[in-house]
Amino acid sequence: MIRDLLINMSLLISFISIVSHILKEKEINTNTSLKVKVAGGLITGLLGVTLIYFGFRPTDNTIIDFRNIVLTMSAIYGGPVALLICALSIALFRIAFFGVSSISAIIITAIICAVDVLISKQKLKMSTRWTIAAAINTIAININIWQLLKGNPRLWEMIVIYSFSSMFVSLVTYRYLNYSLTANILFRKLKSESANDYLTGLNNVRSFDQQFNQIMKTATEKNEQVSLLMIDIDFFKKVNDTYGHHQGDIVLKELGNILTKNSRSFDIVSRNGGEEFTVILLDCHINQALSIAERIRTAVEKAEILLPDRRIIKITISIGVANYPESSQQKEYLLELADSALYQAKRTGRNKVVIASNLTYCASS
Ligand code: GH3
Ligand code: MG
Ligand code: MG
Repeated sequence: MIRDLLINMSLLISFISIVSHILKEKEINTNTSLKVKVAGGLITGLLGVTLIYFGFRPTDNTIIDFRNIVLTMSAIYGGPVALLICALSIALFRIAFFGVSSISAIIITAIICAVDVLISKQKLKMSTRWTIAAAINTIAININIWQLLKGNPRLWEMIVIYSFSSMFVSLVTYRYLNYSLTANILFRKLKSESANDYLTGLNNVRSFDQQFNQIMKTATEKNEQVSLLMIDIDFFKKVNDTYGHHQGDIVLKELGNILTKNSRSFDIVSRNGGEEFTVILLDCHINQALSIAERIRTAVEKAEILLPDRRIIKITISIGVANYPESSQQKEYLLELADSALYQAKRTGRNKVVIASNLTYCASS
C-alpha cells in the first residue's frame, strides 16, 4: 500500500511540475476565462484518472489513491466549473473501468466535491481552506474504506496509513503548488520588467534595441522601408520644476498613451529613457512617417493632461524622423540621423517635426 501511495504522490508532484512549467506564462486563478477553467478541469481530471489507475487495490472493486487532493486543487484554484469537469472525468473513468460496483465511490466523490466547493467559498486563508478540505476529505474517504473493507484483517492498518499519508501529501502538494505558482508569477513579472518600462508600460530601451535590430534585418532582407521617430518633450525640466517630479511622471505616462493611440497597432512605441521616446514605423515610407509624426505632434499639443489635483498641464514635443533607406542605406546610422533631426527641431524652435534626409524644416505650430 505504501509503495502505491508513494507512486501516487510522485505522479501528483511530477504533474504539478510539468503543468506549471507549460503554463508559466498564464495566470491561474478562479477569475480566469471559462475556456481556461474547462481546460484546467480536463487536465486535473486526467491526473485524477492516472492516480486511480496507479492506486492501491485491496480488493477488486476498491481503490485507494489521492484523487481527493486533485479535486480540492481544482476547486480551490479553478472554482466550481473546473471541479465539475474534473469530477465528471474521474467518475466516468471509474464507471468505465469498474462498472456500477463503484457507486459508493461516486457518492464519496460527490460529497468531496460539495465540501471542496463550500470550503473554497469561505473567506479564510488559502492554507486554512486547504487544510480543512484535506481533513474532511480524509475522514470521508476513511468512512468509505471502512464500509467497503469491513471484516478485512488489515482494515485499521489501511485506515491509519491512509489518514497519515493523505494529510501529509495534501500539505506537501499545497506547499509545492504554491511554490510553483509564486515562481511563475515572479517569472512573468521579471520577464515583463526586463522588456517594459515600469512607468509607461511601453517597451524599454533594451526591448527597443532588440526589436529595432530584428526589424532592420528583416527590412534589408525583404527590401522594405522602415521609419523611425525620435521624440523629446520640450522644456520638460520646467514641468518638473513647476509641478514636481511626481506630476512629471503623470505627464510621461499620458504621453505614452498619446503615442500608442496615434501610431498604428503594429508600430513599436518605446520609452528610451527619461523623457525620450521612439516609434518604429514598420513598412512605412517617409511621407507616411511624416504624416504620422505630425498627427502625434498635433495630438500632444492639443492634449490637456489632467493632474490628480485637477490642474491641467499642456506640453509640446519635438520629433526627428529618419527613414531607411531614404535617409541612409546604412541602418546603423538611422538612430543617429533621427537624433540629429530631433536636435535640429529643438534648435529651430521646438514643437516641430524635422526629417533627417535633408534636415529640412517641415512643420511647426
Ligand atoms: P528640451 O526642450 O531642450 O528638451 O528641454 P528639457 O527641459 O526637456 O531638457 P532635457 O530634455 O535635457 O530635460 C530632461 C528632463 O527630464 C530632466 C529630468 O528632470 C527629466 N526627467 C528625466 N527622467 C524623468 C522621469 O522619469 N520622471 C520625471 N518626472 N522627469 C524626468
Ligand atoms: Mg531630453
Ligand atoms: Mg526635453
